[in-house]
Amino acid sequence: MTALRALRSTTRAVRAGIGSDRTTGAVMPPITLSATYAFAGFNRPGAYEYSRTRNPTRDQLGETIAALEGGAGAVVTSSGMSAVALVLHLLSPGDRLLAQHDGYGGTYRLLRHYAEKGWIDVDFVDFCDPAALGEALARRPAWVWIESPSNPLLRIYDLARLAALSHAHGAQVAVDNTFLSPALQQPIALGADLVIHSTTKYLNGHSDVVGGAVVAKDPALLERLAGLANAVGLTGAPFDSYLTLRGLRTLSARMRVHEENAHSVAAFLAEHPSVARVHYPGLADHPGHEIAKRQQAGYGGMVSFELHPRPGAVERFVQGLACFTLAESLGGVESLIAHPATMTHAAMDEEARARAGITSELLRLSVGLEDVRDLLDDLEQALDRVGWEDATEVKREAAGVI
Ligand code: PLP
Repeated sequence: MTALRALRSTTRAVRAGIGSDRTTGAVMPPITLSATYAFAGFNRPGAYEYSRTRNPTRDQLGETIAALEGGAGAVVTSSGMSAVALVLHLLSPGDRLLAQHDGYGGTYRLLRHYAEKGWIDVDFVDFCDPAALGEALARRPAWVWIESPSNPLLRIYDLARLAALSHAHGAQVAVDNTFLSPALQQPIALGADLVIHSTTKYLNGHSDVVGGAVVAKDPALLERLAGLANAVGLTGAPFDSYLTLRGLRTLSARMRVHEENAHSVAAFLAEHPSVARVHYPGLADHPGHEIAKRQQAGYGGMVSFELHPRPGAVERFVQGLACFTLAESLGGVESLIAHPATMTHAAMDEEARARAGITSELLRLSVGLEDVRDLLDDLEQALDRVGWEDATEVKREAAGVI
């Protein structure tokens, strides 16, 4: 672990566990699938007792993610949502949690569920509204939950500023870093107490595992989380951990190409008359561009955009795409397209979606590692199906030209 931390981030991911097998000299660390482990003798358990509690393959993944995020350690969970649920287990009845109003729909649904049961109090607030944020912090939340970039609108929040403000009000800070991965953002260095991941996304990177992780800055908090994950049974499966570690080795190389392709896609869409608005923090006119430049090591592979509102335009665009699969999830090698209002954020009611700015015309792209020329051709053909000549008029009309 210490040796791993002496290395640079990209090397950490590649070298984690290499040559650690003492039995066969296997270069790649072997997978340990056993559910249980023999005691050395009566009342003498070894380092491992039972795989729900600890498993060598899962430990290896947790250590690697923690080393990449700069945390004391990590608990690897069975999904991103079980990572979210694990953190919520830290709260006591009556504790308050403050979250932004435009985060991932599944997190919103779970927070609403906990609040409706009366287990905790939850405030959803526009973090861009200083007065609303100030009022919410004055209600003394125990935890502040931040997602930056946000899903799906890619809004950027100033993590260092929000963490300092939250701490000053006595709150701890959890940051969902799923959209960027530690290759592009390390929230603990910016003041976060916990980092949450859906490892389903960029960390695994191949859309063949559902998993999650919670990284803690502080060893005492890590110990509490590990105890809760064992007690509730939220820990991840060894085989999933093995695959995720395998995927994670190429994280920084993948992120470079994701970003390169996403940048080209965002620039192309921004120029197209059928597109009303593009959300990509790498574009100079994105409202969060300057903060992203400061707090991120790159802008990532996610791009959202809105078509001009015209009947059937979204369906026409999505149907027949060859290189973007209409599917939930993100962060895999393959490009995906999602319609947040009917997919990832369907769990939000219409009013909450409207408040968050998630329109029916919004589409979210997870830009993959294909040849970007194929991606651009595919998008262009789809935009042709929408009918860009009409859209030119829509744009002109909007600009008051005709
Ligand atoms: N957090 C974010 C930002 C997500 O986008 C998702 C899923 O899309 C999750 C958490 C939940 O992760 P999982 O689907 O692995 O449970």
